[in-house]
Amino acid sequence: MYRPLLFAAVIAASLAAAQPPAAAPAQANHDLGFKDTPMLPGLPWHVHDPDRPHPPVVTPAPASSPAAPPSDAIVLFNGTDLSAWQSHYSTITRAGRPGPVEWKLVDGVVEVVPHTGDIATKKSFKDVQLHIEWSAPTPPVGNSQNRGNSGVLLMGLYEIQVLDPWENPTYADGQAGAIYGQWPPLANPGRKPGEWNSYDIIFEAPRMDGDKLLRPAYATVFFNGVLVQNHQELMGPMVYRAVAHYSAQPAEAPLVLQNHNSPVRFRNIWLRELSLDTSH
Ligand code: MG
Repeated sequence: MYRPLLFAAVIAASLAAAQPPAAAPAQANHDLGFKDTPMLPGLPWHVHDPDRPHPPVVTPAPASSPAAPPSDAIVLFNGTDLSAWQSHYSTITRAGRPGPVEWKLVDGVVEVVPHTGDIATKKSFKDVQLHIEWSAPTPPVGNSQNRGNSGVLLMGLYEIQVLDPWENPTYADGQAGAIYGQWPPLANPGRKPGEWNSYDIIFEAPRMDGDKLLRPAYATVFFNGVLVQNHQELMGPMVYRAVAHYSAQPAEAPLVLQNHNSPVRFRNIWLRELSLDTSH
């Protein structure tokens, strides 16, 4: 069940510790990351560390036509309408509420309209296999995190980063295919702006008992068919310039696409609900 107020409260709580400073020094350039952020637990890196190694660039197989969903998939967007979606609380401005989607539907793809909030599925999910395709704006505008930024937020909390992956230096834990702020992708198989990329994501929701973490979330991600996250344990919901940690959250929640004010395009979005607690 989608409980917007509770959900917004959970996100607000999870992001409360992640507020960036009121104003960075005007001359500061953080395109390549930060050294004044906390250390990631058990790792020799700061959050968004500019010295964290970047993965190798890999040329993916040539793009093919969109992958058709299997018979048991829930089709969230097939190019015709956005009836499965609603406008959503922004993960950037931390403002907004459910309402009609204001993103653009053009030629069978949906495009982010800056400053109109995120969008979220009306339905809530837990463990899923998700397929989604996206393309960065062309010509590219901006640098680093301001160039083609969006995100796929499982349960509205756990971000697989969407960012222009083509000759766009940024911190490793913030590039496309990263679990944002936590784990860089294992490779960068991203395509040029305007070309279509695909994510195939297997997401295992965390198991919580109130505030108590019973089992963390895990994500496996294929980026243009290349493995970039291998059953990776997540540290907690996405935060900026802070170390993620778990707190009470709904057992299931909507899938959210982030509005980071870049006109990123999406198409061919479907998922399969998984029943990973059931033995087979
Ligand atoms: Mg993002």
